[in-house]
Amino acid sequence: MTPQPTDRSRSLFERASAVIPGGVNSPVRAFGAVGGTPRFIDRAEGALLTDVDGNEYVDLIGSWGPMILGHAHPQVLDAVQQAAARGFSFGTPSENEVLLAEAITARIDPVDEVRLVSSGTEATMSAIRLARGYTGRPVVVKFAGCYHGHVDALLAEAGSGLATFSLPDTPGVTGASAADTIVLPYNDQDALRAAFAEHGDRIACVITEACPGNMGIVPPRDGFTQLMRELTHQHGALLISDEVMTGFRVSATGWYGWEHERVGYPDGPPDLFTFGKVMGGGFPAAAFGGRREVMSHLAPAGPVYQAGTLSGNPVATAAGLATLRLTEELDVYPTLEAAADVLRPEISAALTAAGVPHVIQSANSMFSVFFTDREVVDYAGARSQDSAAYAAFFTAMLEQGIHLPPSAFEVWFLSLAHTGDVLDRIVSALPAAARAAAGAQAGGTGSI
Ligand code: PLP
Repeated sequence: MTPQPTDRSRSLFERASAVIPGGVNSPVRAFGAVGGTPRFIDRAEGALLTDVDGNEYVDLIGSWGPMILGHAHPQVLDAVQQAAARGFSFGTPSENEVLLAEAITARIDPVDEVRLVSSGTEATMSAIRLARGYTGRPVVVKFAGCYHGHVDALLAEAGSGLATFSLPDTPGVTGASAADTIVLPYNDQDALRAAFAEHGDRIACVITEACPGNMGIVPPRDGFTQLMRELTHQHGALLISDEVMTGFRVSATGWYGWEHERVGYPDGPPDLFTFGKVMGGGFPAAAFGGRREVMSHLAPAGPVYQAGTLSGNPVATAAGLATLRLTEELDVYPTLEAAADVLRPEISAALTAAGVPHVIQSANSMFSVFFTDREVVDYAGARSQDSAAYAAFFTAMLEQGIHLPPSAFEVWFLSLAHTGDVLDRIVSALPAAARAAAGAQAGGTGSI
């Protein structure tokens, strides 16, 4: 294989490293866990990325989730251009905010009202504040390996970049802020019961990823979400379901709709939900919402303060609205499922043929590959995988023009544009990448 030219990416990374900490504006973008130079992307269309050196890649990052229709979808582009032509930000109410809030509440039954914000982090941070304000209690329960953005109280044993770089916690989060956070192992019913038995009257809320995806996909075992609901009800705490990643991706109604249809929630739905990624269509839009009685505690209706200069931005909401509308009109979910159904067995076959232990775990069409031989049910299991094998696999895929997430703990994000030829390109790169993973695993360098 002729090596890819990377001079311009290298040079940009060098310049970036002089003026941006670590050369990137979000840690997982650096190739710290996989080695090599991050590719600086110049443009993207459909399922393809083109970097500044002119290399083309099939994209399996999808901006970490938002790009469900593929990049620069013409109808979303049109909506964005039309909105931008009418002004970029007003700082006053505008119609798109109403339309987007209506679109979300229409899809997710238990959500009567939403407040729009600009990032998933803001959504979870504000939902926690609301839960504390509503209950008058301090303690937040979260699960190891679940990532809810870089909110102080929620960074303890978080997934995503903290998993990628093996950071247990982060300096800068005060003891006081961490002291009000209880971190439990995911899928551990006994630990959850014990936490409520000991701290029940101080717990404001349990926050969970609806189906964790930031330590790789680790679905809730039967009854786990339902136990969270039962215990929060019993003890007067709120349940916050973080659907920033799963919302409008695993189904039109997110993980909630999917799980509700299959197993139901005998004790009722979560009280609050957080959304982001897909609902912004690649622009900064996110939201938190829930039943009216809780949401009415937010300012200006109630006393819990929350605000934002760019919240409900007219261009971002136009992108989100167009994206949500098109997920239905273009029947996106069956396409994603079909693509996942093609890829999963091919990945497995290639890794098996190369003798690389692996487990593929899914939340409907959303899946991740763990380089381990055991089902992963919690963060400890996710962290025991062979990250060196993944790094070799990643690099070999990249060199063949397939851009996976530069971390073993992330989802492979598919889009409407991942069909036909694009899937063929991924499949044909797998055997060499699997051999590279096998080489790394055996302590060799691996080659393709
Ligand atoms: N919650 C979940 C489940 C996420 O996956 C993320 C981001 O990956 C966030 C919250 C934070 O969102 P943002 O990066 O938009 O702040």
